[in-house]
Amino acid sequence: MLRKLPGFMTRLIGRGSSTRLPVPDIHTRDHHTISRKDISKPALDVLYGLHKAGYKAFLVGGSLRDLLTGGHPKDFDVATDAPPEAVEKLFRRSRIIGRRFRIVHVYFGRDVIEVATFRALADDHDEQRQSDDGMLLRDNVYGTIEEDALRRDFTINALYYNIADFTLYDFVGSLKDIEKRRIRLIGDPETRYREDPVRMLRAARFAAKMQFDIDPATEKPIHQLNELLYQVPAARLFDEVLKLFLGGYARQSLASLQQLGLLEILFPSLAHHLHDSADKQVWQRMLEAAMDNTDARLARGKPVTPAFLYAVLLWPDVRARYQQLCDSGMPAAPAMNKAATAALQEQLQVTSIPKRFSSVMRDIWALQTRLHVRHGNRAEALVTQPKFRAGYDFLLLREESGELEPGLGDWWTRYQDAHPDQREAMASKVKPSGGKPRRKRRRRRKPRPDSGGDD
Ligand code: ATP
Ligand code: MG
Repeated sequence: MLRKLPGFMTRLIGRGSSTRLPVPDIHTRDHHTISRKDISKPALDVLYGLHKAGYKAFLVGGSLRDLLTGGHPKDFDVATDAPPEAVEKLFRRSRIIGRRFRIVHVYFGRDVIEVATFRALADDHDEQRQSDDGMLLRDNVYGTIEEDALRRDFTINALYYNIADFTLYDFVGSLKDIEKRRIRLIGDPETRYREDPVRMLRAARFAAKMQFDIDPATEKPIHQLNELLYQVPAARLFDEVLKLFLGGYARQSLASLQQLGLLEILFPSLAHHLHDSADKQVWQRMLEAAMDNTDARLARGKPVTPAFLYAVLLWPDVRARYQQLCDSGMPAAPAMNKAATAALQEQLQVTSIPKRFSSVMRDIWALQTRLHVRHGNRAEALVTQPKFRAGYDFLLLREESGELEPGLGDWWTRYQDAHPDQREAMASKVKPSGGKPRRKRRRRRKPRPDSGGDD
């Protein structure tokens, strides 16, 4: 008996015993909105270069998704039937890169076009390519465009634009999902997450970036399989974190990660403080404020540094450890140093943090104790430190979120604006102090009339 199957399954055709390949919906030029004027010159050069050499050449993936949703692609990826060596020969300034995926980078000034050869599907029985848990280790077996489409992650990332006749190929219901603003994995979600757990983070990221919903069948396994991310190399997770938080939609990414139970994997100590500490609202506010600042800076074309972001993400942990060490009698500076080392060590179990960033994070944290000590010529020495600005911004963030009573940040704002004579006068009024950051006082239920001062 014939049963009606949903969506693209109806268009699957048989091939061999186990692989069933999709037949694409092909939309001719007058039936879609992808136009060559929206494609960068370098990308067009690569597409035409391949085409003229007799190869198939398609624009693929994220750039088409972004163009169809009114966004601006940040890069253009090309898929072809030409093997990497042939692509490399064809373009003078190009290089084969990658081990897990071998792709060719073609360089045009500061632009890079990524050219990937159509890849075959993972075979369940191929032990060379898969770990015991089903994770893909290598993915360099070349295949057809149909296979290539099925091994992409989400339907919204699997459209192909053919430079030969400007048609748009839709193998897996991509256009419908874009229209419905829906993120859906291609194939069986659990298998696809086991092959590459980073797809869970990618789901979170695209949901945040596009403001799309994650299809329930794609979302559900994430809550059960989130711990598979521990198998992913720490350096790759570091890169993914940067894409989540430095792509201009950090606030949404944070919400998305929290909602999917992925923040607790990437930042276990942070997630713990957001759930269980007495100050959880403070930390949530601090994070959101930091993410908003990051997004606002990026929107204005200003630079952002992973060090500042990571300094924020690890701060609740550093702060708790620091407080404990101070309470046990350790002076502020060594306590902060020790707290920083411990927090960094724990985070490095999950995501790497290159030294050039962790050393800046340490400076930012160390300044949180040092910014209290302003008497004599200390303030002047601090303000000329290379990391002063980041430490000061961090202090403002802590005050803004209510972790600290406001005051110190404002003092430093005025100090920076002041004339040298005024600076001296300001510093002379500050009493030498131990340099420990004060906790915000809890408001008493019945404020006493004389409770104005903090000292
Ligand atoms: P953006 O560049 O905006 O982050 P993108 O979709 O271009 O988004 P890339 O990481 O550049 O993402 O990857 C390019 C394409 O490669 C994707 O659109 C997708 O088709 C495919 N792809 C990337 N990562 C994976 C993965 N982990 N599993 C399967 N396919 C993937
Ligand atoms: Mg891309």
